[in-house]
Amino acid sequence: MEMQVVQRARETFLTGKSRPLEFRVQQLKSLQRMITDRQGEIATALKQDINRSQYDTPLLELIGLENEISLAVSKLAQWAAPRPVEKSLLTIRDQVYIQPEPLGVVLIIGAWNYPWALTLQPLVGAIAAGNAAVVKPSELSEYSASLLKALLPRYLDQELYPVVCGGVSETQELLRQRFDHIFYTGNSTVGKLVMEAAARHLTPVTLELGGKSPCYIDKDVDLRVACRRITWGKFVNCGQTCIAPDYILCEPSIQNRVVEGIRQTLLEFYGPDPKSSPDYGRIINQRHFNRVMALLDGYTAALGGQSDSSQRYIAPTVVKDVPPHARLMQEEIFGPLLPIVTVSDIDDAIHFISEREKPLAIYVFSSNKKVIKRMLAETTSGGVTVNDVMMHYTLNSLPFGGVGQSGTGRYHGKHTFDQLSHHRACLVKSLGM
Ligand code: NAD
Repeated sequence: MEMQVVQRARETFLTGKSRPLEFRVQQLKSLQRMITDRQGEIATALKQDINRSQYDTPLLELIGLENEISLAVSKLAQWAAPRPVEKSLLTIRDQVYIQPEPLGVVLIIGAWNYPWALTLQPLVGAIAAGNAAVVKPSELSEYSASLLKALLPRYLDQELYPVVCGGVSETQELLRQRFDHIFYTGNSTVGKLVMEAAARHLTPVTLELGGKSPCYIDKDVDLRVACRRITWGKFVNCGQTCIAPDYILCEPSIQNRVVEGIRQTLLEFYGPDPKSSPDYGRIINQRHFNRVMALLDGYTAALGGQSDSSQRYIAPTVVKDVPPHARLMQEEIFGPLLPIVTVSDIDDAIHFISEREKPLAIYVFSSNKKVIKRMLAETTSGGVTVNDVMMHYTLNSLPFGGVGQSGTGRYHGKHTFDQLSHHRACLVKSLGM
């Protein structure tokens, strides 16, 4: 079944159907129409999957997607045009340029935490670049996956952009096929399997993975603002965000004030009982609920700590004085637990970050320019936001992606177009001379 779908996508790609810029624009506009027409259904599916608040769905998923589409529509002619480059003396009379070309058939494997944005944003770039694409949504967000499967063929070319639903075995079957690029979003264990499968066909990959993104709070900062922004980024979507601040680093002298700042913000955002707040999410499934709860084993929460397995509810939780080698500090939390690790100063914080895997994001809050400068110069990460969290993700002028264990490749805006294009080196000489 999967084989036929891929085969059909390839045959249709080879007819040249996906190449004309007018066709790409028409498909992108149709995708835009799907989002506008079906917002209500999409929000309902997300409510069922992850108890996503109706305010968060447009804000966290659909607006960004719509921006990506309108950017691609307005810039496509420019992106797809030949890019002239410098000539040498020998080629002074010739045409020398880089021509972005479609790669062929792209496989897009999405994750469940933002199931619409994480499957459709790569698709926007795949369409813009003139490719065919097989879309495999995550089986964990099952309502979103089946809605996507029902909707996409009504708006997009069915042969060029098929949706394949299913679990691990369907994904494995897909991975045995030959693609021209694989774009995977998810955890690094599966990321390795994807890369292994891709290696068999020498298929290039983009791996959008996760990891532990640190958040350093300097003592020289407006703690009220810092705690407000961190609380939002950590607990939105119930902590299931790849670039959520995973843990806090700060000096012992401000730790209690940080906890207090988060407590006040939580009260303001979710009221005295987050469980009954329409704005607070749930853990995606029982396995992840058990995994997150096990991370909390043996700790006394400074804030939160309550849970209800029947609803897969875990309260926004903060744990103080977490030892650097605790289990909470070994794996990505991907849930509403926020450990605070104390460090003696900025040197200690930089050392702490640098001796661990390169994170997907780093956050630093400080009003001291020197502290900011040092954190930027002496650490590395996929992306970084200073004095806020996650906002670098929202700019499609910035490439989004990881480095090292947090991933390889980048996307958003023109970066997706470039990632999913072949940059062909072209030298066109004349027969004269
Ligand atoms: P997931 O379990 O839904 O997996 C994603 C895809 O992998 C699914 O389509 C699934 O079918 C497939 N898959 C699972 N096991 C497989 C196997 N053994 N072989 C082949 N395919 C398999 O998603 P997840 O991994 O739980 O997502 C959470 C992770 O993703 C976190 O680590 C998070 O940080 C990361 N993430 C990264 C980004 C990013 O943009 N960098 C965004 C969101 C999530």
